[in-house]
Amino acid sequence: MRSLPKPIAAFYDVFDLCMEGVGRAVLKKNYEDIRGDLYKDASDYDVLAAQGDLWKIVPNNQLKDDVVVGNVTKKQLRGLYSNYMVAEGKPGRAIYDGLMASAPLEMCPYCGVGRVSTLDHYLPKAKFPRLSIVVENLIPACKDCNMGTKGTAVAVNAESQPIHPYYEGVDFNSAQWLFCDVLQTSPATIIYYANPPVSWSPVDRKRVGAHLKSFDLSARFSFQAAEELSHVRQTFIQYYRNSPSNERRDYLVQLETAEYALRPNSWKRAMYQALSNSQWYCDGGYQ
Ligand SMILES: [Zn+2]
Repeated sequence: MRSLPKPIAAFYDVFDLCMEGVGRAVLKKNYEDIRGDLYKDASDYDVLAAQGDLWKIVPNNQLKDDVVVGNVTKKQLRGLYSNYMVAEGKPGRAIYDGLMASAPLEMCPYCGVGRVSTLDHYLPKAKFPRLSIVVENLIPACKDCNMGTKGTAVAVNAESQPIHPYYEGVDFNSAQWLFCDVLQTSPATIIYYANPPVSWSPVDRKRVGAHLKSFDLSARFSFQAAEELSHVRQTFIQYYRNSPSNERRDYLVQLETAEYALRPNSWKRAMYQALSNSQWYCDGGYQ
């Protein structure tokens, strides 16, 4: 989980740029007629997101050809994004490219392991078509996170909302909440779970669990950890085979400290922490 700075593009600038790509006069007029309505939706989104209350926005269950606002159908609202922001060669594509490039090292903010390959609608456009080009709702994400359960699921209360990288990433990284257990298997197995500080509100404590679940992060982190464990094992066999177990522990603590300085809730930090705390692993379970 990583935070990203909120995009600074104003709604009207984004909307007008998309409009430059609309060729059909009637469709363009229909879009222009709802400009103010969509601006209002974008403004409401910003207020609710800052309060952690996006779940309060009512999902739209209409069919694709149903009119949603003015003379514009659900399909046409979604088309604002796919036809005039994503489509190559359209003026609105500059917004898409800018958002895609906003994640440092192309790292997906939801998981912190995948490479950004798409924009994810935090509130999915299938259910929230009026928000399809609201930049605050567009998160650069990896394919796995974009295709995860969050892709179609809609939060029904505050505690089931995944963490929003633009609004909440910093707050949820203020303390460690990601931990793991070391199972005494051969090779060792790392199992991830959320255990947020008791000082957090009940809603926030549940939300980190919802975040893990939404993106299937426990399983994906375990997979990453298995690869990392093979490197640790090789290092111990090559350089620490005849060392006392406390030297192996010190090595793991060093790795954990370095990871902690970068990100308190990275899967690596939690893994090194758990390994260094495992007497079994340091005594020889690494083999
Ligand atoms: Zn991801």
